[in-house]
Amino acid sequence: MNIPMTDLKAQYAAMKQDIDEAIARVINNGQFILGPEVRAFEEEMAAYTGAKYAVGVASGTDALHLALLGSGVGAGDEVITTPFTFIATAEAISRCGATPVFVDIDPLTYNIDTAKIEAKINKKTRAVLPVHLFGQSADMAALMALASRYHLKIVEDCAQALGAEYQGRKVGTFGGAGCLSFFPSKALGAYGDGGMVITDSAEIARKIDILRRHGAGDGYYYSAHGFNSRLDALQAAVLRVKLKWLDDWTARRRKKAAVYARQLGPLPGIVLPHHDEKSPSSFNYYTIRLVGPGINRSALREYLQSKGISTAVYYPLSLHLQEVYRSLGYQPGDFPESELAQEQVLSLPMYPELGDKQIEVIANALAGYLSQ
Ligand SMILES: *Cc1c(COP(=O)(O)O)cnc(C)c1O
Repeated sequence: MNIPMTDLKAQYAAMKQDIDEAIARVINNGQFILGPEVRAFEEEMAAYTGAKYAVGVASGTDALHLALLGSGVGAGDEVITTPFTFIATAEAISRCGATPVFVDIDPLTYNIDTAKIEAKINKKTRAVLPVHLFGQSADMAALMALASRYHLKIVEDCAQALGAEYQGRKVGTFGGAGCLSFFPSKALGAYGDGGMVITDSAEIARKIDILRRHGAGDGYYYSAHGFNSRLDALQAAVLRVKLKWLDDWTARRRKKAAVYARQLGPLPGIVLPHHDEKSPSSFNYYTIRLVGPGINRSALREYLQSKGISTAVYYPLSLHLQEVYRSLGYQPGDFPESELAQEQVLSLPMYPELGDKQIEVIANALAGYLSQ
């Protein structure tokens, strides 16, 4: 038996006719860039998230980059973020000519430790970029309080958290802008790259719309240095079909997480993902922490792979220690929680079609290895 990290073929099988029809509709209509499909998808996503505006762009990375630019982040600014995330979070800051300023994580949620942010705020600080890692929301109440006290912009990285909530409201709707990724392995995955910014600000939405179209106001007249960063219509048409399934998928992943918790809870040396009933995770990834003495993560991964079970490590090296950020002068030991997490985390297979039987197989394999 093979258990992958995610199973996009099974997903396609469940909706093949609708997807094929949506793709044929775009090809017959001939509007491949922006156009009615993208507009309709943007309206549906605004309605889904509860944001006033949604602007489709070429990727989640571009969503972050354009949302930061649209929030006024530029050269010489500092943006506070977490070192325990995918590189795109910090890359987007650097691409604005700004500097990422890292703050350690809360070991429970793996998200930015809001109690440690204030010490890093100075005159150059323009924004905070929290990441809702693995699908668990960051502490938005504390972040919004800091933002209003220090007049900072908040841009939320929701690439892994579409469908997640913070105290009854969808993530991405707290800060000035929320950024989504439609990378194939994300909760709402395109057949290629795609991303989106959601916002309640007409001004930010307008700026991003201009930036994604080469800085064009109307026609061939340009008011800003822009980019080519549009969500294409084929992806929008596919995503419109999948959006109808999203709530069902999120509910199913949450049930799988509960099954995992029952199966893995009794095993020694494993810490389960944080669970907060008021702010439920979307469980884009199911990430455990290996804390037992002497557990060798790579040996465990090889053992699981030999039984057909795929796993992943998100992320093996915190961003402050990456070569690309060497010039910022961070040292090992600067962010002990992030550095500990990078050694201990292990993401297990998680997708709506994952069977309870398969979770049992995974749990038994883990139990077998740990009792060796
Ligand atoms: C996937 C991801 C991104 C980037 O999204 P792309 O669509 O791949 O550009 C950014 N941040 C996080 C946390 C991600 O997981």
